This record gives sequence, structure tokens and C-alpha cells, in this order.
Amino acid sequence: MAKYKKIKVPKTGTKITVEKDKIVVPDDPIIPFIEGDGIGPDIWKATQMVLDAAVEKAYKGTKKIIWMEIFAGDKAVKVYGKNQWLPKETVQAIKDYVVAIKGPLTTPIGGGIRSLNVTLRQKLDLFACVRPVKYYPGTPSPVKRPQDLNVVIFRENTEDVYAGIEFKANTKAAKELIELLSTKYKKHIRSGSGIGIKPISKFGTERLVKKAIEYAIEYGRKSVTLVHKGNIMKFTEGAFKDWGYQAAKKYFPNKIVTEADLWDKYDGKLPEGKILIKDRIADSIFQQVLLRPTEYEILATPNLNGDFLSDACAAQVGGLGIAPGSNMSYHYGLFEATHGTAPKYAGMDKVNPGSLILSGVMMLEYLGWKKAGTMVENSMKRTIKSKVVTYDFARQMKGAKKVKCSQFAKELVKNMK
Ligand code: NAP
Repeated sequence: MAKYKKIKVPKTGTKITVEKDKIVVPDDPIIPFIEGDGIGPDIWKATQMVLDAAVEKAYKGTKKIIWMEIFAGDKAVKVYGKNQWLPKETVQAIKDYVVAIKGPLTTPIGGGIRSLNVTLRQKLDLFACVRPVKYYPGTPSPVKRPQDLNVVIFRENTEDVYAGIEFKANTKAAKELIELLSTKYKKHIRSGSGIGIKPISKFGTERLVKKAIEYAIEYGRKSVTLVHKGNIMKFTEGAFKDWGYQAAKKYFPNKIVTEADLWDKYDGKLPEGKILIKDRIADSIFQQVLLRPTEYEILATPNLNGDFLSDACAAQVGGLGIAPGSNMSYHYGLFEATHGTAPKYAGMDKVNPGSLILSGVMMLEYLGWKKAGTMVENSMKRTIKSKVVTYDFARQMKGAKKVKCSQFAKELVKNMK
């Protein structure tokens, strides 16, 4: 058992472990949580109430999550001291306990940390950001048929322009790089430019695409689309597409059909039990998810495209208040609300806890506790349909009953069957 300075390990509960490449989940797993900043405490309290109720109802006391608080963001500074936004033992605890959940975190200004979320992703090698986007009937949406969109986005989380390799304009490093590129490689960059580096590797692409196809197999989805801007950025985004197809053929030769083969060999009809691998240019996919959403199921994308696309898709089905997400490595899973800390609503018990609650559903599914996850999801559907909603939905719905964050959670528990 690891020794922590400030984290209090619960007296009961058992660790999740990894054996033979799979997580082994006891009936009383200890799961670390980070409450989060701003609206974090409100939505975390609501989430904990709903998840505990679902597990209790689904398994009648034979399973129970034992929560363990770990610290990041403003609360970590209070507990550990100045500049301690992300204490080492927080990262260690997630490694030790394998699965964790977190509220949103403020991006600290100064102190050398670019973003706590990006740092967590890098330190834990959480290489896949997974965001399911689907419609819950009754949710206010800006499109005519929001129910047609039901995608899961697998966004590469460690590479691309998010790798954090940037050089400020007019610094010595930026000037040296401009000089080197010009003299050695005859590539000219305007002097006084800031420079960002965009690395995309075969290794990073393969493991992301592999994970996306594994998910498609597990959940019976019919297609995986590689989203890229390879027509312009040939050796990064174009390579993502090529390596993605190669990975699909290498790891799943009997499971997949490429779009080219679909027409050459199968007359355009996907054989039973196969997964279609296709690719789309990034700008086109933003049109496609609006105009032909039913043609897409799993979208695998490099980091930056994925960031934009996840929020755009989330908007189509009702916005960030209800958009869940997870950051996954081979085994570690860090489940999180996809929105930020919405500081103007902090402590008001006002906002929609849906994003974190549905991230909790993803976590329950990852634990293999699907019955409890389905209970929460069905209750969410019932509650939204009954028009008992938080302010963000209420302001767009006719005849809605506006409730506080905590009341919405109680309503979910009440509607749980
Ligand atoms: P934000 O916190 O996501 O809030 C932007 C707006 O989105 C809110 O004003 C609110 O809209 C709506 N919103 C967000 N969460 C909601 C919820 N649960 N229910 C209902 N509406 C919700 O974005 P931000 O203001 O740009 O960022 C604030 C801080 O969060 C920054 O420090 C940023 O770095 C950080 N951040 C953290 C994460 C993360 O931890 N994963 C992600 C993004 C940003 P209305 O005003 O229209 O009601």
C-alpha cells in the first residue's frame, strides 16, 4: 500500500488491479475522485449521490464504490500549499487505483503549468480522450433531428500541436529554429513568428485507432472513421490516416473492411459482422455530422481536430452540460466532465451535473457494472423527458420546471428503476 501525505485511504474497500491485460474489479473498489474547482463541488456532490444510488439499486448492497478524495486545482493548493496544483501523490494515487473521476479544474495562471488536464493526460499517458455524443429526447437542440447523431469520438490526447512544444516569437529559440529551417532545409518562416511543433507518430496513431476499433467491436458499432486534414498536412495528418488504415489491417484483418474494398469487393454492402473503416477530411466531417449524421459511428482523430469536433458534436445534442468524457491509457481511466469550472456559477447549486453524471456512467461501464450505468442513463432520459431540468435546459424548453443542481440529482434518483 502506497503511503500518502494528505490522501486518506479508506479503511474498507479493495484496489482495482490489472491482470493479463484486463482490469479486475472487486465488489468494493476504492475509486479516487477530484472534486474540481468552481462548479466542481456542486456537480460532484450530485454525481456521487446518483452513482451510489444506482449501484445500490442495481446490486442490492452486494457492490459498493468506496470513494477516496484526492486533490488537484485550488483545493490542492489549500491542502498542500502554494503552487501545489497537481501534487505528485495525486498522480500516483490514480496509478495505484487505476480508475478515477474528476470535476473540472481551473487552469492556473503562472507557476509553469500549462493546463492541469493536459499535464494529467501526459503524466498518466492517457492517450485516448473518449467522448460519446448522443441525444436524450427532450433536450433542447439547435438541429432538426438531433437523434440522428450517435457517435463516439476517440481523440488522440498526447501528440499534435497539444504536445506543448512552442516557441514565443522573437525568443532566441524561435530565431534559431527559423534560421535552421531556412539554411538547412530551405523552408522559410517569416521572421518574428511564433512557432509550434506538430508531432504525430505511428506509435501514437496505432494505439488510438486500435482502441477505437476495439470499442467498435465491443459495442457492436459498424464503422470507424479516421478524421484528418491530410490533404494539406501530409506527413502528420495524412500519415495519421495511412497509419490508421495500416493498424486496422494489422490488428483486425478479419474484422474490418475498408471503404475502398467495400466497393471493389462487396458491391457497397458491408458484410455481416464487419466494421467499415473509412476516412474523411476534417473540414468535411463538420458538414457530415450535421448533414448525414447517421453515416458515422466511431470517429478517430488527431488531438486538435478532436477537440473542436467533440464540442461541435456536443452542441448538436444539447451542449456541454450533458457531454461526458473519459481519458484512457491502456488501463487507467480518468473520467471527467468535459466543460470547465464555470466560475460565475460556483457554489450556487445551479448548473447541470449531467456531464459528470454521464461520465460516471462511462466509468460504471468500464468497471463492467453496466446494469447500474444503464439505470442512470434511463433515469436521465426519463427526467429530461419530464422536463424537470437545470437552468441551461429550462431556458430553452417550453413548460420546463427549473430545478437546482442537487434537486436534479434527487430527481434522477427518484426516477431510477
Ligand atoms: P466553462 O467553464 O466550460 O463555461 C462556459 C459556459 O458553459 C458557462 O458559462 C455556461 O454557459 C456553460 N456551462 C459549463 N458547464 C456547464 C454546466 N455544467 N451546466 C450548464 N452550463 C454549463 O468554460 P470557461 O468559462 O471558458 O472556462 C472556465 C475555466 O475552466 C478556465 O479556467 C478553463 O481553463 C477551465 N476549463 C477546464 C476544463 C476541464 O477541467 N476539463 C475544461 C475546459 C475549461 P452559460 O453562461 O451560457 O450559462
